[in-house]
Amino acid sequence: MPAPGPDGRFGEFGGRYVPESLVPACMELEGAFRDAWADPSFHAELDGILRDYGGRPTPLTECSRLSDRLGVRLLLKREDLAHTGSHKINNVIGQALLARRMGKRRLIAETGAGQHGVATATAAALFGMECVVYMGEVDTERQELNVFRMELLGTEVRPVRTGSRTLKDAVNEALRDWVASVEGTHYCIGSVMGPHPYPWMVREFQRVVGDEALDQCRAILDGGEPDWVVACVGGGSNAAGTFAGFVDTGAALVGVEAEGGAAITRGTPGVLHGMQSHLLQDEDGQISEAESISAGLDYPGIGPEHAHLAASGRARYERAQDAEVVSAFRLLAETEGIIPALESAHAIAWVVREAGRSIPEGSTVMVTLSGRGDKDVAQVRDLVGREGSAADGA
Ligand SMILES: *Cc1c(COP(=O)(O)O)cnc(C)c1O
Repeated sequence: MPAPGPDGRFGEFGGRYVPESLVPACMELEGAFRDAWADPSFHAELDGILRDYGGRPTPLTECSRLSDRLGVRLLLKREDLAHTGSHKINNVIGQALLARRMGKRRLIAETGAGQHGVATATAAALFGMECVVYMGEVDTERQELNVFRMELLGTEVRPVRTGSRTLKDAVNEALRDWVASVEGTHYCIGSVMGPHPYPWMVREFQRVVGDEALDQCRAILDGGEPDWVVACVGGGSNAAGTFAGFVDTGAALVGVEAEGGAAITRGTPGVLHGMQSHLLQDEDGQISEAESISAGLDYPGIGPEHAHLAASGRARYERAQDAEVVSAFRLLAETEGIIPALESAHAIAWVVREAGRSIPEGSTVMVTLSGRGDKDVAQVRDLVGREGSAADGA
């Protein structure tokens, strides 16, 4: 996938909608990223850390039992096996390394469910950096364990008590901090979102997922490539990194959104958090609260490059409903011994529904399993109770 234009646009989406006071910070970041990304020594250091600390390359797993059941050949890219249990580590290590190269000793981030906060706190601990994470007060109550995890990692969690006391308000606080502290602080954004250069930079930090997966697919498929490449979409970083590896192949690219967070398939164009993209909003442009069973997918917007890939037709975007996601979560556990993150189970759910329908029988389907589901086990237990198996119901 190409870099965005000089104004940070992918087609009509993206751009840099920030207060005047943050324009120099975004330009400085863009310059530093371009410089680092062209520097082999930066790549050597990043790749070394991702290997020795992050656990890369993650495996590609052939899922024989579930494949037999679905009538397609299912391959999983195992980001659940990366350090901290998801693809988020790829991005935060990249950004922390870049911040250090820029001479910044402090990281800030905002987090909703806490997962990006924990990832950022992890990178800050690894590099010995100061770290502050903004989190809506409502979210700190809902996600107490993640607050404690961040504190264990040496991060200060600042509860945000303004507005609806959720993610939107935490973003505003993080931006306010950045305006005041930009000299020595890097704002670590967690997905392919925000003002230019973030959507492009985060995609590049995540493309290791797609690049590895393409090589691994070719090795398993005797030089061939999968027919379908599928990933779940919240802000869109694991999908963007996956698609980056496969965009020049013949594979059909599919992003799967949560029914309640479907910014591409149900949203309309608008500006939020520094970018022009597709957003869930009402007729007056008020942003709607997204809602889904997986906290990592309920963001009311989507990365601008996905809005562009949808508009150009190179990728398509589908939705999965909560009930089919829970069935898919259980089905993967029972048939393959892999408990996926609820986010990742959206991608599996779409494949389970469409195998033998829009996905022709015998197709090869590569799904990015963005994370592991340990964090979701208690929630799924409350949703389904303990009886029965996914095989009966699904
Ligand atoms: C955060 C998260 C997501 C959603 O983020 P993207 O930027 O859309 O990838 C998906 N899966 C897992 C496991 C996550 O932690």
